[in-house]
Amino acid sequence: MGEKPEKFIVDGRRLDGRKMDDMRPVKFEVGTLKRADGSCYVEFGGNIVMAAVYGPREVHPRHLQEPMRAIVRYRYNMASFSVEDRKRPGPDRRSVEISKVSQEALESVVMSEQYPKSAIDIFVEVIQADAGSRVASLNAASVALADAGIPMRGLISACAVGKVDNMLVLDLGKEEDNYGQADMPMAIKPTTGEILLLQMDGKMTRAEFEKAVDMAFKAAAGVHEKQIAALKSYYENVEAEVSEDGSAGN
Ligand code: ADP
Repeated sequence: MGEKPEKFIVDGRRLDGRKMDDMRPVKFEVGTLKRADGSCYVEFGGNIVMAAVYGPREVHPRHLQEPMRAIVRYRYNMASFSVEDRKRPGPDRRSVEISKVSQEALESVVMSEQYPKSAIDIFVEVIQADAGSRVASLNAASVALADAGIPMRGLISACAVGKVDNMLVLDLGKEEDNYGQADMPMAIKPTTGEILLLQMDGKMTRAEFEKAVDMAFKAAAGVHEKQIAALKSYYENVEAEVSEDGSAGN
């Protein structure tokens, strides 16, 4: 792990040159995995994440089946080579917690009542982690669900807000996340303004918290635009391929 920096903000700029409310670059690619029903590759700052969706499909083990709805399962996994020091492979407390809260966020947008007795499985692999991997993963997962054609009440768009040197900053970088005063990942459904996930590590005053929520909403709106643009451009290309050769692109 790097050293704690003496100062996080110098002359109004953060360690990587960003202003307080700047996000790192974000890039979405839809339909990257051909064997999955839906998939999405995301670069979210230095995070590189692949999300794959399978389903609706039969539930195994069968006793998990729900008669009136589909079950939504979410597995967040960080590759052992995704961080500076090798991470021990397999689930740990952190990944189990992230999977649980992310699954709950996704369950609230997926129209699971349309697929009784089935399962919708979402796998997220963090190939490179750089602070904010849980929000990057949720952004990827919701695009992958859309790519799989799973009906949803809206996409999930997520970003973290934090506090360093007593200032609120959007989309924490690695040092800001590891050594800052607060880290607040938030996932939002921008179409209705619902908050689907909000976690807080550290401390903020009430006024800071309210401002941080505002910052997360603005960031989520920007992420949402990029998610929609990526889906549109992918499906426009697929349509063009279909009309050219008369068969489905894929
Ligand atoms: P998030 O990635 O959602 O911000 P955390 O705040 O728990 O989640 O982690 C912040 C960052 O710390 C991660 O993105 C990753 O770069 C690093 N990190 C997390 N877990 C480990 C680990 N087991 N080993 C090394 N680095 C880790």
